[in-house]
Amino acid sequence: EAVESLNFIEHIIEEDLKKGYSKEQLRFRFPPEPNGYLHIGHASSICLNFGLGLRYNAPVNLRFDDTNPAKEEQEYVDAIKRDVEWLGFTWDTERYASDYFQQLYDWAVVLINQGKAYVDSQSSEEMAAQKGTPTQPGTESPYRNRSVEENLVLFLEMKEGKHKEGSHVLRAKIDMESSNMLMRDPIMYRVLHKAHHRTNTDWCIYPMYDWTHGESDYIEQVSHSLCTLEFAMHRELYDWFLDQVVESDKLRPKQREFARRNLSHTVVSKRKLLQLVESGVVKGWDDPRMPTISGLRRRGYTPNSIRNFADTIGIAKRENLIDVSLLEFHAREDLNKTAPRVMGVLNPLKVVITNYPEDKEEWLEIENNPEDESAGTRQIPLSREIYIEQEDFREEANRKFFRLKIGGEVRLKSGYIIKAESCTKDTDGNIIEVQCTYDTKSKSGSGTEESLRKVKGTLHWVSCKHALEAEVRLYDRLFTHESPDSQKDKDFMDYLNPDSLETITAFVEPSLKDVHSGDRMQFQRMGYFCVDPDSTADKIVFNKTVGLRDTWAK
Ligand code: ATP
Ligand code: MG
Ligand code: MG
Repeated sequence: EAVESLNFIEHIIEEDLKKGYSKEQLRFRFPPEPNGYLHIGHASSICLNFGLGLRYNAPVNLRFDDTNPAKEEQEYVDAIKRDVEWLGFTWDTERYASDYFQQLYDWAVVLINQGKAYVDSQSSEEMAAQKGTPTQPGTESPYRNRSVEENLVLFLEMKEGKHKEGSHVLRAKIDMESSNMLMRDPIMYRVLHKAHHRTNTDWCIYPMYDWTHGESDYIEQVSHSLCTLEFAMHRELYDWFLDQVVESDKLRPKQREFARRNLSHTVVSKRKLLQLVESGVVKGWDDPRMPTISGLRRRGYTPNSIRNFADTIGIAKRENLIDVSLLEFHAREDLNKTAPRVMGVLNPLKVVITNYPEDKEEWLEIENNPEDESAGTRQIPLSREIYIEQEDFREEANRKFFRLKIGGEVRLKSGYIIKAESCTKDTDGNIIEVQCTYDTKSKSGSGTEESLRKVKGTLHWVSCKHALEAEVRLYDRLFTHESPDSQKDKDFMDYLNPDSLETITAFVEPSLKDVHSGDRMQFQRMGYFCVDPDSTADKIVFNKTVGLRDTWAK
């Protein structure tokens, strides 16, 4: 068998298999909180968990960590499901932490009965003041030794809505002197008079993350509960809570941690992304500049490009910053194989072919994708007036300029060789038209000697009278700093790039008349583009996904 490199999580699982876990016991989950849209960081966690599911043929649950009704919404649940599916993964069962509210409550009552949990009636400020510091033990709450009976009554009243928010909490009675601050009598429940997107007003106490997560893993019999490094210190508490409920004949979940992934020139935190949405800096969660899965999709990224990116960076034990150009590399790699080639001129300059008859038009055959023969060919029209890119013409240029210049020749892609004879300027000196002649026998593929004549440059072009006008949205980095949210004394919003969106009018070949939202293509020589849902019957809107090569100066 070929030597395979396993990541450190796979090593842990392999060890567990050797130590007696059976393959059938392996089970994973991806646990998003529905308080925002998934971003590229989540893609790492999705690819890790679902990747393990595929490798070990084990079920992976999609579990919504929905314990905070103040921030969670059905819209986010729907978006998360759409994005995981779009990435191409299939979950075993769809679960919600809120499905377990009753079970969690019942277990909390057991803990109270065992003297392991108590109702604290202090203010959050008072409790914070008693927490101590990592080197100083905390102080026990005056309510710590409430009787079991009193605790049971109060907890029931909390549940029944008889108490105001902030008046009481349920705390685990662990150790106010623990060197792990999280073990100093952590809060298990708080009163929250808020409707929940699934349980509505059934509950007005809500369980905290630590109390919920491990127990949910246990209920679902998740074998390996993978989370990001900031939860490493929580593992002791995760284990303590499991100790209270695990039965000997059931599998005991394990929490293991891996490093969060950060992407350069953006932020990957739902809270910060929400701020971008709410402040109107971007048009929504799926704005093509957003590092969200839905933003990347709208921008033209393929599921494969995101999965390949996540697989390439793999998982790590230390946090680091991944350059966004790596993500773009994977977009190019995948699109190069799959995207049909079309002609679109972004900054049009009119060219008149003076020896081409005014009433003539012809349809030239052009291949759809040189990387994929099965993609076939199509016809594009040529006429006396065409558009080329402004940057493809210079009045004078040195020998290294292989595009069009006065007295020089280029080939029109899949068409004829043209020669620039003269140009016309406006009163400001801008070139507004180029006059050319064409070599009438040089038609590509016609087999003539002239058709085989080599000229240095080949240009893309569109026929003026056949071209469609389109709106093209060009994007740049959303932030000017590579890690906008880790700068001292600066807010990430201070680093917004004011020029992250530029909208232009382009001309594209007429075959694009019937494109659909989401269609991806390569504008030859210009980059990869994707049809935006803002397109209408009258006007196609394209998003530029990425250029053909990495041109962004660092
Ligand atoms: P955010 O700060 O964006 O809200 P989160 O961790 O609170 O992130 P969750 O919805 O709880 O978001 O995340 C679901 C899963 O995805 C968790 O296991 C979490 O650890 C993981 N995850 C979130 N962000 C990243 C990231 N940047 N890199 C890798 N994994 C991540
Ligand atoms: Mg979270
Ligand atoms: Mg969060």
